[in-house]
Amino acid sequence: MAALAEDEIISLSNNITWGIKSFAKRGIITRTTDIYGYRITENREWNIVEEEAAVVRLMYRLYVSGKSIYEIIEHLNKKKIPSPNGNEYWDYNTIRSILASEKYIGDYIFQKTYTPDTVGSKPRVNRGQVPQYYIEEHHEPIVDKGIYEKAQEILNQNKRKITCEARKDGTAGRESYYQKFYCSECGGLISRNSSSSYDSKEGSAWRCRNSYKIVGSTCNIKRMILEQYLDYNFVLTLEAIKKSHEFRKMMEAYLESLDLKSRDLSHMNLLEEQIENLNQELYRAVDTQIQKDGQDTNQINQIISGIISLRQQLQVYWDRMEKLKRDRNRLEKLLKYCEKTKPISFKEFHHMRPRIKPGDSIYATTNNARNSSYIDPAGADYFPEDVFRKQVISGTIDSDGRIKYKFAEGVEFGVDMIYEEYKKTFEKEKAKIQLEELLNSSEVMEMKELCKTANGLTP
Ligand SMILES: [Zn+2]
Repeated sequence: MAALAEDEIISLSNNITWGIKSFAKRGIITRTTDIYGYRITENREWNIVEEEAAVVRLMYRLYVSGKSIYEIIEHLNKKKIPSPNGNEYWDYNTIRSILASEKYIGDYIFQKTYTPDTVGSKPRVNRGQVPQYYIEEHHEPIVDKGIYEKAQEILNQNKRKITCEARKDGTAGRESYYQKFYCSECGGLISRNSSSSYDSKEGSAWRCRNSYKIVGSTCNIKRMILEQYLDYNFVLTLEAIKKSHEFRKMMEAYLESLDLKSRDLSHMNLLEEQIENLNQELYRAVDTQIQKDGQDTNQINQIISGIISLRQQLQVYWDRMEKLKRDRNRLEKLLKYCEKTKPISFKEFHHMRPRIKPGDSIYATTNNARNSSYIDPAGADYFPEDVFRKQVISGTIDSDGRIKYKFAEGVEFGVDMIYEEYKKTFEKEKAKIQLEELLNSSEVMEMKELCKTANGLTP
């Protein structure tokens, strides 16, 4: 046993990794933070939290019965089940990671991620760079293995689906609008109105979820907002960013706030020094333990805890550096995109068109006309879904329907557009189309013809 451990030391350059790894082999995981559904005690025992476990099971049940993650979000919201971080609303990725985690069947993959041995590096997904251990029956399971495996199948199928399918059918509403907009009056989530009358011609409608109830609603903004308004508003906002100095100023101030100051840099140096000292100590302790056949792991345990806590402090700075880099890139991409935008007319954006062909009767086809929309459902989608999803953290909608989009902390921007004005513009465009329909109808054409003949007859 001692010989094997010695080989291990030689083959591993990073001794803290060695420390944790040897624990893992003995089935001891140095994890101290809780996982939804479990509380991890000081002795690293995993205890099931029944309330949370019931939610996990519910999620899996809904998912394998064919519900989408968004439908699960709606379900949890309706039942007012708080999310792991205490928020009222569940996040897509949280649910996805719960559905994908082997921890719920009692297993544990050790070293799913690893931290490269260079300063400033963040944990990365382990794709064979360091050994990975799959520990079965590591703790008490919450979910049945059969259900878990079924969920993995669906998750893998959906992964493929998402990459080739840009937009779900209109009735479900735009997926990227779920959990993005909040009511400025009450802070409630703007959620899709599931009344069927709004799923038809002009697309989905959205509304503050606290205003739904007839009795006991806590918000007075009962208005529904057509999804196409949200689409159009965002496109106009991107056009406005193109010309806005204010936006650039806010963006620079935000990035500046993330930048590490000299005080932060010297603290980082100090932490690195302390870690190095503990590493040396760990080396010596491991060496001693090998000679004793690993009977007393208390000291190693303590040193590792110390190193982990120091690394966590360093991690905060690394995260900030990473965030600065990521956000700078992201926001610069946004500006680049905005530079390229070209104004688009209201009519074209909504692909509004006459419902009858020239020469058709305005009366005979009334039924037909009523059933078909001014809006061509097959018209191009001018909403840059990808930009919205990647750039907008959240948005607030005020009582007049003005929208402010949050692109980063303190970088909030929107156009001065009022929903009622938008509706008026929409009606105006509709009236124009009605006139166009009338002028091109068989009735008016016949009348024109008649006038011509009548003119020819006059002496
Ligand atoms: Zn509200």
